[in-house]
Amino acid sequence: MKRVLVIAGYDPSGGAGLLMDIKMLTLLGIKTASIPTALTFQNSQVFEDWIPMNRKDFEKMLKLTFEDMPISGVKIGMLAQADLVSLTSFYLKRYRGQLEWIVYDPVLRATLEKELYRGPLFLEVVEKELFPLVDFLTPNLREAEIITGLSLKTLEDFKEAAKKLYSQGVKHILIKGERNKGRIFSYYFYEGSLKKTFSVKELPFEFHGTGCAFSSLLLGYLLKREEPLVAIKEAQRRLSFYIKKASFQAEKGRLNLIF
Ligand code: PLP
Repeated sequence: MKRVLVIAGYDPSGGAGLLMDIKMLTLLGIKTASIPTALTFQNSQVFEDWIPMNRKDFEKMLKLTFEDMPISGVKIGMLAQADLVSLTSFYLKRYRGQLEWIVYDPVLRATLEKELYRGPLFLEVVEKELFPLVDFLTPNLREAEIITGLSLKTLEDFKEAAKKLYSQGVKHILIKGERNKGRIFSYYFYEGSLKKTFSVKELPFEFHGTGCAFSSLLLGYLLKREEPLVAIKEAQRRLSFYIKKASFQAEKGRLNLIF
């Protein structure tokens, strides 16, 4: 059985981050280990603040985990600070040979509009140290703008962003979340070229954690040896099913994706 190491922020509500990632991977029958990068103080309605993990403790966990068990995939979410990005990259490089897929969902902002990284070096270290190791990047539109420094309005802009990210080392990129006429569009690029556009119906509810859930499902399907296009489709289908299920409970505004 495959095992994934989740490296992400801890959301006590379980609606996003590490707990959501574990739930999704478990539903696909995949074993997980997990290392928190930060503790966030939030519930389904408010996001108050977060604190990063201490770098020494973080490194100890990386070392103990990688030395102990065979990991075949890594799911990365919130990385919080440049020093944690560097440590993550160091261990990914060391164990790259055994890792089938490294998926990075570049979590930079909470749905409740809080920034989830700090420090002037963060984006630079992500680009220089982490991107050359990442197989699949799943930014939403806003995150893609932040990491590329480009303003993304048209399909031509998306193509330019994907080319830039490919030149930094990322082969598979899914830019998600362009809303248009009641549908949400995502664009899949392989080696800098657009391969397919996906769209799903926009639902009348918004949940935080859907980005985390999607990228974990995607990694799960990739590890089950689905082709990337099939893995994207299957992850979208399964997430839509969970969102519709959760919507029935969503009467009082924002709600976690709980099922
Ligand atoms: N990771 C953590 C720890 C979070 O707290 C959040 C949002 O609050 C996210 C990721 C991002 O979630 P989303 O999937 O809504 O982008």
